[in-house]
Amino acid sequence: MAFKVAIVGRPNVGKSTLFNRLVGRRIALVDDTPGVTRDRRVHPARLQNLRFDVIDTAGLEDAAAPTLEARMRTQTEIAIDEADLVIFMIDAKAGLVPDDQTFAEIVRRKGKPVVLVANKTDVRGAEAGVFDAWSLGLGEPVAVSSEHGNGMVELRDAIAAVA
Ligand code: GDP
Ligand code: MG
Repeated sequence: MAFKVAIVGRPNVGKSTLFNRLVGRRIALVDDTPGVTRDRRVHPARLQNLRFDVIDTAGLEDAAAPTLEARMRTQTEIAIDEADLVIFMIDAKAGLVPDDQTFAEIVRRKGKPVVLVANKTDVRGAEAGVFDAWSLGLGEPVAVSSEHGNGMVELRDAIAAVA
């Protein structure tokens, strides 16, 4: 059975962008049929020589539960339960917001190995956001740009250290 990596975090931090990069193509998050939404996507992925299955958690756009928070929480917990390792992503451009703490708390409670990723570091001023990420208590943040591909060697090394 392949090693499974779940990408977790609040909406809009860039989870799907990283997912698409890892699987090597764009995969739509929402089914074509109206009302049918696939909450989680598991797909074979590769990061240099490292192969694993990656799980994306859908966001805001797919909400069909009473509240977004409930929806996200459930998706996140199922994804983490299924995973051998969690990539917890924050948006270094935006800096930490209360929702990051909420999701970080879910991750911490599950007790799975975590790689903390600070995304969007291609944006000027993101260094402060990377530094803030330390305060989550999830270890050293790996600075990446999912959009441009920066930091993928460091991300590979961080995953390989656990896998
Ligand atoms: P998700 O909700 O966590 O899955 O986030 P998405 O992958 O849908 O990305 C949310 C927004 O952030 C989109 O507008 C992306 O283009 C943007 N984004 C994602 N990764 C990066 C990045 O590395 N740098 C910058 N500047 N923008 C990014
Ligand atoms: Mg997404």
